[in-house]
Amino acid sequence: MARNIDALTAAQVSAAVAAGELSAVEVARAALAAIEAREPQVQAFLQVTPELALEAAERVDAARAAGEKLGPLAGVPVAVKDNMNLIGTRTTCASRMLENYESPYTATCVQRLLDAGCVPVGKANMDEFAFGSSTDSSAFHPTNNPWDLERVPGGSSGGSAAAVAAGMAPIALGSDTGGSIRQPAALCGVVGMKPTYGAVSRYGVVAFGSSLDQVGPFGRTVEDVALAMDALVAGGRDLYDSTAQDVAPSFAEALRAAEAGLDGKRIGLVPAFMEAEGLTGEVKQGVLAAARALEDAGAELVEVDLPHVDAAIAAYYVIGPSEAFSNLARFDGIRYGYQEPGCASLAEQSARSRAHGFGAEAKRRQMLGAYLLSSGVYDTYYYAAQKARTLITADYTAAFSQVDAILMPATPHAAFRHGEISDPTQMYLSDMYTISLNIAGNGGISVPVGLGAGTGMPMAAQLVTPAFADERLITFGAVIERALAGDGGSVLGVAPAFAGKGGELA
Ligand code: GLN
Repeated sequence: MARNIDALTAAQVSAAVAAGELSAVEVARAALAAIEAREPQVQAFLQVTPELALEAAERVDAARAAGEKLGPLAGVPVAVKDNMNLIGTRTTCASRMLENYESPYTATCVQRLLDAGCVPVGKANMDEFAFGSSTDSSAFHPTNNPWDLERVPGGSSGGSAAAVAAGMAPIALGSDTGGSIRQPAALCGVVGMKPTYGAVSRYGVVAFGSSLDQVGPFGRTVEDVALAMDALVAGGRDLYDSTAQDVAPSFAEALRAAEAGLDGKRIGLVPAFMEAEGLTGEVKQGVLAAARALEDAGAELVEVDLPHVDAAIAAYYVIGPSEAFSNLARFDGIRYGYQEPGCASLAEQSARSRAHGFGAEAKRRQMLGAYLLSSGVYDTYYYAAQKARTLITADYTAAFSQVDAILMPATPHAAFRHGEISDPTQMYLSDMYTISLNIAGNGGISVPVGLGAGTGMPMAAQLVTPAFADERLITFGAVIERALAGDGGSVLGVAPAFAGKGGELA
């Protein structure tokens, strides 16, 4: 019987390719056909890359024919966020500024997935330069949530999340500076993980906030995220990123640890988070369902306090724009990026290129950063934000002396409609549960827990663990998934409007 590509997880694709039951080229063709059928409605991609996909797939098939050992993700289609360089593609960051920017090299994170046998099917849409929570600030087009096309997929990695939720690729790469993997994963009903800062190389990823940015994977199952994590850290510390650390590829192993149950484990719940203003009843119910799943597996639920986390959004909107202002100064309209024609001087060219090359949110962040770092102002805000950062990090350290992980919402509410949130400060609250981790540096995972009783949209819970204990995210995440999923392994699977639409495997 004909199967659809979207019925297979990354683990199943690579097993079938390794066993010779499917060829990588067949899989790539099916993924490209699924994209062709679904993309007109979802618009998850800025660029689809059939040639790169087929070339990579042919390499996998040739390696198998030659009897070589295949990588752990052999033949698995992957969508790559468009702030990551990949030779043979443009890396636009969804900005006019980089509309024609050809990747001069391939980012380490992307290269590691290619080395594991992944097949790149396209570059995914995002908020411009990763500023945002809706993907609506892309300079090219919005992306629609596969569960309801009138709603946003979240952001900034909204294209990556939507591609996975619509079954156009089993896995995708995103980047998370304040929540940009976990929030869109939550809104699209897929798994999304932000590892500890430094676990995955940032080399070749266009910088937003260099002390906050972290790359991580999306998948429809915790297992697929674990396999992608193993591939991302395989090969050890990346010498091209001085903040990158050596992390053992123990994520698939951590998945198996879930089978042993959680006896003796302690999971923290933060009462202030569960009672927060803005948290909807349906999200709260979803998080409580996840809590029960952990308890049923043997874990003890414990209340913990993170007294300074209230300051996280304020600290982030000082540190983030300050770092973004410095990082985006390179787009000067002269050396690379968009160049306004017909200017009388380089100064005019720079000013006019930046005025026309950047969208509203990118300008807002840079103006904020310029102001915050100006003399006189710097001491008041930047120092205060760094002090808050120290206190928030210490809160997590104290909490983790009592518990193995903390469970909390990933987002306060389900996906909102396009244009529904027009006030930037309201938009910033989308990340109220995710941002403190980028401030403190430790890792988190967003795991789907079902559909909301009110909206019918995907709901998620977020697990948070100490720095460089990211494998626990996989173990605890798998326990939640197993308790709440039907038989398919995935809690929500592919959005029903798209499942089986194009992408048939012979
Ligand atoms: N939504 C947050 C922001 O707008 C986080 C974005 C991100 O993680 N890249 O800055």
